[in-house]
Amino acid sequence: MTQTLTPVKPAKLIINGAPVDAASGETYTTMNPATEEPICAVAKAGAEDAERAVVAARAAFDSGPWPRMKPAERQRILWRLGDLILEHGDELGRLETLDNGKPIFESRQIDVPMAANCFHYFAGWTTKLAGETLPSSPSFLTYTLREPLGVVGAIIPWNFPMNMVGWKAAPALAAGNTVILKPAELTPLTAIRIGELALEAGLPPGVLNILAGPGAIVGEALVRHPRVDKISFTGSTDVGKHLMRSAADTVKKLTLELGGKSPNIVFADADLEAAARGASTGIFYGKGEVCAAGSRLLVERSVHDEFVAKLAERAKKLVPADPLDPKTRLGALASKGQMEKVLGYVQTGVREGARLVAGGERQPVNGRGWFVQATVLDGVENKMRVAQEEIFGPVLAVIPFDGVEDAVAKANDILYGLAAGIWTRDVKKSHAVARRLQAGTVWVNAYNFYDAAIPFGGYKASGFGRDLGPDCLRDYTQVKSVWVNLEYAWGSWETVPQGAPTQ
Ligand code: NAD
Repeated sequence: MTQTLTPVKPAKLIINGAPVDAASGETYTTMNPATEEPICAVAKAGAEDAERAVVAARAAFDSGPWPRMKPAERQRILWRLGDLILEHGDELGRLETLDNGKPIFESRQIDVPMAANCFHYFAGWTTKLAGETLPSSPSFLTYTLREPLGVVGAIIPWNFPMNMVGWKAAPALAAGNTVILKPAELTPLTAIRIGELALEAGLPPGVLNILAGPGAIVGEALVRHPRVDKISFTGSTDVGKHLMRSAADTVKKLTLELGGKSPNIVFADADLEAAARGASTGIFYGKGEVCAAGSRLLVERSVHDEFVAKLAERAKKLVPADPLDPKTRLGALASKGQMEKVLGYVQTGVREGARLVAGGERQPVNGRGWFVQATVLDGVENKMRVAQEEIFGPVLAVIPFDGVEDAVAKANDILYGLAAGIWTRDVKKSHAVARRLQAGTVWVNAYNFYDAAIPFGGYKASGFGRDLGPDCLRDYTQVKSVWVNLEYAWGSWETVPQGAPTQ
């Protein structure tokens, strides 16, 4: 394999505009899940580094140039960062694949453009974020200012490290905040590299700090810190719940993008070839380590057998292979622990009475790596654990249904509400069902499409707040109302005309 040929340089933290070692001097090793070999040493941030980053980000916000600069100037710097991500696309794509195990096709052709797209899209918003002039009384000029929050702590998971930097940092920075970003311990490399590129793009010191380190120490320190104004979190529902409690003490603003168990619904009137492709990429893209993965496939009973046969055939052809090979479409799971968890769920499904129609096994490539076959479990009932719990791997649970009512009931019978897919040729049905699904995103005759312009986030236990699109900017700003007295002699309330607002 080619992974080890070009060594990756040790990765540092980025604090106050410079790559630095951890205050403790500690490092840890990040591993290549496809080869089970070390990639490089990474500076391991601790509580002291979190404090250094907060001091830097605070100073950059309270007295630095970033929130005070002309919006067009902020726009130019963020746009430049988008360009630099594209210019370093080969390097970033390779780092992401080494660190996460996803196919280079995905890292290079999907994640790199998406991360750049975020900086380009939100660069445009710097000059468009505005308050309003609102009518209250002829005696007052009343208007709102849309202001940044201050220091934003962004805590991200290991499945889309590079994308998540774009999803979180780009809108936060566009709104004039400063950011401390904590990548997952497993996959810190692209976030750190983008942090370096941000300095090259001209981001002033302290505006974007990157801290690789353990969630329970560094993440927790950010969440509890009184001088961090907001936490934007993407990760598991359990950690999200914990953060809600930790954030309460400082009344910290919080948005949560959590897990999912998204229904992908195939009606009998669908183009079944297209639906089979959509069902397959819906679950196997990103090795199924995708929060919005279409992991519950609801298939209308009249086409169920035919459809499952098509799907099983596809799954069997999707063989795990070297993630650095551009032809590979199924990479290695991100960690040994994740692989074991996924294989455990396959066994649970079989024990619960599901039928394994494809995959189900570990399949090393060149004798190593945390690879799992593309797996299809048929005959699943919606109450089974494999239908209700997030597996976060290439395992699809197929559940038959009868008619629209049953499809909607089964789709919504779950704690989560992140995304959903509908496959049908009936336009009326597609819109009607889309309205009834409890999910933050619904794809019709498509699955797993994302764009910086389109909001993404959860209903129900999948979280609250939105990433991307104009909506997310509300979560990175606050509104101030300003009342300018045009008429009253201040201090003599007798002069206030009757009916005028007095409080
Ligand atoms: P995780 O919750 O274990 O970790 C996410 C991040 O939180 C990591 O950076 C981790 O270090 C940090 N963290 C852990 N404990 C912490 C604590 N006590 N305080 C502060 N930070 C802490 O999740 P993961 O295993 O990295 O990612 C997988 C999960 O992420 C899945 O459940 C998946 O559905 C979810 N996810 C959701 C979305 C979405 O947009 N909704 C997107 C991607 C992933």
